Amino acid sequence: MIAKQYEQMGISHEIWQKGEEILKGLKSRFEEIDAIAEFNQLKVLKAMQDNRVSEACFTSTTGYGYNDNGRETLEQVYASVFGTQDALVRPQITCGTHALALALLSNLRPGDELLSPVGKPYDTLEEVIGIRPSRGSLREYGITYRQVDLLPDGSFNYEEIKKNIHEKTKMVTIQRSKGYQTRPTLSVERIKELIGFIKSIKPDVICMVDNCYGEFVERLEPSQVGADLVVGSLIKNPGGGLAPVGGYLAGKTECIEQAAYRLTSPGLGKEVGASLGILGSFYQGLFLAPTVTAGALKGAVFAANLFEQAGFSVVPDGRESRHDIIQAVTLGSPEGVIAFCKGIQKAAPVDSFVTPEPWDMPGYDSQVIMAAGAFVSGSSIELSADGPIREPYAVYFQGGLTWQHAKYGILCAYQEMANAGLV
Ligand SMILES: *Cc1c(COP(=O)(O)O)cnc(C)c1O
Repeated sequence: MIAKQYEQMGISHEIWQKGEEILKGLKSRFEEIDAIAEFNQLKVLKAMQDNRVSEACFTSTTGYGYNDNGRETLEQVYASVFGTQDALVRPQITCGTHALALALLSNLRPGDELLSPVGKPYDTLEEVIGIRPSRGSLREYGITYRQVDLLPDGSFNYEEIKKNIHEKTKMVTIQRSKGYQTRPTLSVERIKELIGFIKSIKPDVICMVDNCYGEFVERLEPSQVGADLVVGSLIKNPGGGLAPVGGYLAGKTECIEQAAYRLTSPGLGKEVGASLGILGSFYQGLFLAPTVTAGALKGAVFAANLFEQAGFSVVPDGRESRHDIIQAVTLGSPEGVIAFCKGIQKAAPVDSFVTPEPWDMPGYDSQVIMAAGAFVSGSSIELSADGPIREPYAVYFQGGLTWQHAKYGILCAYQEMANAGLV
């Protein structure tokens, strides 16, 4: 019966069968993902109970938003989940880049230096830091930046890191996810080692982790192994697909207060910020986030194995342990990237009838194709894929609000490639 259902939705019997064969070999992987989701579900539930979340927390505030109990409780819940002293969770934080910029611009002062010990940060952060000249960057404020690249085998260059920490070094930024690079994503264990090393050289340096795409993939978060601050977007993992906007920072009281005074105003800090009636979706999204993340992870593992077996190179590979929800598949041709993205788009609940095409996206040196049919615009915890039309013709795939949808999307991408004679 199920094969018929797939056939009605464009998946040939043969490709469906191929998928089922692959899934037989993934049982224990999926069990481990479910075990992590179970652990994190309890973690989130306990945080909600301990902080006495009540129906009144979902009430809307307007104007200044003084005494917004729902907002304050939500921030305590985030602090509990991430094991931190405090948190800032706001719809006024517009995206992940904004959250990261806020953390940096508020905790650094002119004359301070920022260090990235894990190589080049995410594209949009280049302008925040001023690696690419940009208005309002850290560089414009006289904050300098140093970078130590990972060694060719992906390990930390401890010797160089040590050399690049000095009296001006105030903050360290560690990106957990590989983003759109080919280096491996950092496990929480590796982040722990790195922070331990940095603190042994300079104990008072602020260690910030860009936690985007990593939340709830493991049992522990970087803030539970030494990070002073973790930062991310609510239209990725922790929003659970329900948060329509927002970003979060969780960390030491001092770091969060600095950020709050910058987000709103000196003197006001966390005391203002109307929640405009969307807190219910933040709470409910966080509640669902562990299982939604698990579904996306299963999709990534399934895609890795399906495309690896078809002869494509995939990062991470089909057997590697996972530390974020992104899957890179090198398809080797522009046609491959386009067919893959068309398949993902066809599988969407929204805008499935749209055909994605490569376009000249600002800030990129080649054309980029993107597939997304999301309930929340730009949400990448929902099933989505994108790829630059350039060598080696890799596509980056992530998300899926349910495992079943992620599975169908991947089969659709594969089918689309088969139809084009590419597999
Ligand atoms: C998505 C992402 C960002 C930026 O988030 P936006 O919400 O797109 O601004 C930063 N760092 C990493 C690693 C990301 O994956």
